[in-house]
Amino acid sequence: MFEALLLNFLFLLVPVVIYLLFFENRPHSFNRWLLVLLSAITMSLCMILPIRLETGFTFDLRYIPFILVALFGGYANVLPLYAILNISRFYVGGEGVLPSFLFSTFVLLLVPLFSKRFILLSPRKRILAASTASFLMMACYLISLIFVIGHTDRQFWILTLNALATYSIMTAIIMILIERILANIQKRDRMIQTEHLNVVSELAASVSHEIRNPLTVTSGFLQLLNQSNNLSTREKEFIDLSLQELQRAEQIVSDFLSFAKPQSANMVYSNMQEELEYTRNIILPYASINEVEVQFRFNNKLKTSYDRNQVQQCLINLYKNAIEAMKSKGGGVLSIDISDKKQNIMISIHDTGVGMTKEEISRLGKPYYSTKSEGTGLGMLMVYSTVHKLKGSIEVQSEKGHGTTFLLTIPAEPLPS
Ligand code: ADP
Ligand code: MG
Repeated sequence: MFEALLLNFLFLLVPVVIYLLFFENRPHSFNRWLLVLLSAITMSLCMILPIRLETGFTFDLRYIPFILVALFGGYANVLPLYAILNISRFYVGGEGVLPSFLFSTFVLLLVPLFSKRFILLSPRKRILAASTASFLMMACYLISLIFVIGHTDRQFWILTLNALATYSIMTAIIMILIERILANIQKRDRMIQTEHLNVVSELAASVSHEIRNPLTVTSGFLQLLNQSNNLSTREKEFIDLSLQELQRAEQIVSDFLSFAKPQSANMVYSNMQEELEYTRNIILPYASINEVEVQFRFNNKLKTSYDRNQVQQCLINLYKNAIEAMKSKGGGVLSIDISDKKQNIMISIHDTGVGMTKEEISRLGKPYYSTKSEGTGLGMLMVYSTVHKLKGSIEVQSEKGHGTTFLLTIPAEPLPS
């Protein structure tokens, strides 16, 4: 019996190991059909080599992948699995066909109802929830067995004890593995992002700094030259033009410095109201040209310290992207909502634009990633860099064809001393 249990556990590990080996570096290519296929293989293997108790009863772990897919994937993913399970069970035949069909239908109808809430739970709670779900489902099955058999004896209770313990413990172990893998992927992505930002920020700081000095020196000498009396008006004109262009170059360098460290001259301690209203006013004409209605709600009392220019630039980049996403759809609504929640400033920017796929979302903030013909692919990088400097986080929800929401969570700070 113990060998059969270990074997069943090995079957459960198959999808986990395959994911770890082949998809850890590209989670987006792991699509639902692969998930269904791997789970179906596991379930079939479990059915072929079930666990036989000494009392003569047999049971297997096929419902663990079924319940997990139902919880993580909802109806859309568990339905094909349900079909495969019942067709193959029907094919194998025997007296267990009807109970298996009824029970899987019960799980199919009940468990995916909780899928949306399950996904939003913290990893720890997910492990607990999945094990509980597994335990409860098995308990329901066993209770229904009592009605079918009509009586209970010692052997039945041995089966019950074994099945319940095995199901909840195995589910917990598999869930711990899954959550560990997911956490590792997230951690690595964050590290890569931080690395990118550090490189860009350092490069921006050093290059801008190096270019600024010669620019200042050149413009100083040109101004001196301009005071000379033996210059013709035409020559003076040339010098004025050169000074103007130098000033423009200085402006570009300053803009690029916004990637770099916050500048003390721009630091403020505030609730961002001024920056949000200022940037909204800047963007209004651009929105109205593109038939975009702007809705704005401000309700935040929390404060933090930040570089005013950088925050403004960051917001403008987000608004611009949102409006550009709605441009091709002939207009839409841009909703900007600022509130406070548990010591965090929450900025939500929602558009009804073209939206993004999961893969596109994962590429946001990578340098030079742009889908626009005239895009620079630096806008989102600047957004991530700014929010990162504020120790905040960005959550992106998007549906292709329907729209996108950027949710910025920025921790409030007590007054700096
Ligand atoms: P750029 O705007 O120059 O293309 P960004 O870094 O600002 O560069 O944005 C990168 C890409 O992210 C865009 O080209 C676009 O494909 C996508 N994107 C950003 N924001 C949105 C949005 N609100 N809706 C849809 N796609 C977006
Ligand atoms: Mg942009």
